[in-house]
Amino acid sequence: MIQLIRGFRDILPGEVELWQRIEATARDLFEGFGYREIRIPVMERTELFARSIGEQTDIVEKEMYTFPDRKGELITLRPEATASIVRAYIQHRLYAQEPVRKFYTIGPMFRRERPQKGRYRQFYQINVEVFGVASALVDAQLILMLVTLLERLAVEDVHVHANSLGCPACRPDFRKALSDYLASRMDRLCSDCRRRSEKNPLRVLDCKVPDCRDAMTGAPAITDHLCDDCRAHFDTFRRALDEQKIGYVIDPRLVRGLDYYTRTTFEVQTGSLGAQSAVAGGGRYDGLVKALGGPEMPATGFAIGLDRLAELVAARSEGTAPGPDVFIAALGDESRRRAFGWVCELGLDGVQAEMEYGDRSLKSQMKRANRLKARRVLIVGENELAAGRAVLRDMQTREQQEIPLPAVVEEIKALAAASRD
Ligand code: ATP
Ligand code: MG
Repeated sequence: MIQLIRGFRDILPGEVELWQRIEATARDLFEGFGYREIRIPVMERTELFARSIGEQTDIVEKEMYTFPDRKGELITLRPEATASIVRAYIQHRLYAQEPVRKFYTIGPMFRRERPQKGRYRQFYQINVEVFGVASALVDAQLILMLVTLLERLAVEDVHVHANSLGCPACRPDFRKALSDYLASRMDRLCSDCRRRSEKNPLRVLDCKVPDCRDAMTGAPAITDHLCDDCRAHFDTFRRALDEQKIGYVIDPRLVRGLDYYTRTTFEVQTGSLGAQSAVAGGGRYDGLVKALGGPEMPATGFAIGLDRLAELVAARSEGTAPGPDVFIAALGDESRRRAFGWVCELGLDGVQAEMEYGDRSLKSQMKRANRLKARRVLIVGENELAAGRAVLRDMQTREQQEIPLPAVVEEIKALAAASRD
């Protein structure tokens, strides 16, 4: 038997309803704030990710699914969505008429990480991005949407962590202070961090290795090195969060795994997921549109991990898919022919009807109706055909009634509608 690829998984019916509910809640919320859906491809030229995410990041260094296509061009299964959305924004000149554009997208991402609970090689994200607004107020609004989504899904125990990464004007100063600090602690860092400390010292702040974390207590905080503009931006952001009554903690070590972030960065963490505690992350990336060949254009956004969110929501709800509105137990060819017509007519009207297509006894058909958790069963055999009436049994009350054959569809529709209200 051929099994699926390690780190990949199937979302089966039974679980998928939960995902659909999350997605519908997200769409409804984002569209209410004026966000429009954008659908981008799952593959892009490798260069797009290498240039935007950054060569010295874990994603680009070791997690991407990259391969030459048949003509030798290097392509990559997208590890995240922002780069593609930026590419689309530039390619279609979406800024030309109105620079402020707000997008969301939902779909799979691919990273070749070590699979474990909450960490897959194909996972799903809900992404939200805003282009054309430099104000920190929009960063706060993004967080408002994020916490509202979690609230509407009744997810508890979530914490917003926020930081500012500064800008090209003030980050070099911080980098220098951090490099000096790292130089004095080099012997206590893991080999990855020793390498990172040269090329991308900020990444060391993010290392999960306990010894590195210990070595980093006492490291300089970026929030102490912000230039006046970045400080004012961060203050605006914090004030807006306070005004919206959104709780958060400032986390000066929060740097996130992609190079393109500037100023505001944030992550939503939960205590309910064990080691994989980040449910969502995001921030501002004011330099990326320009770096990828577009105009100077501020931008900000976030990505929610849908797999982890589904796990959080599942912990709080039982996803029982409803059974069919009716199961038609048909006996004999003629009854099955009639039943099939009803099943189709009901289905077209959104009333779920199932039937037995094979030649089975009434007993076995009743068993199957029970297994499917059918709300009611319609029984039609030779006697019923001759009498012109089928028998309808309510599976909860056990009550039975006879329905004239020409009225079957109308009657079942009416009952189904009534039991939905
Ligand atoms: P982590 O620190 O857990 O690796 P990350 O910083 O790499 O997360 P982002 O790139 O910010 O994650 O992606 C946003 C969200 O996507 C994360 O907060 C997480 O919920 C989810 N996510 C990231 N990688 C995976 C994965 N391999 N499997 C499942 N979900 C993931
Ligand atoms: Mg990661």
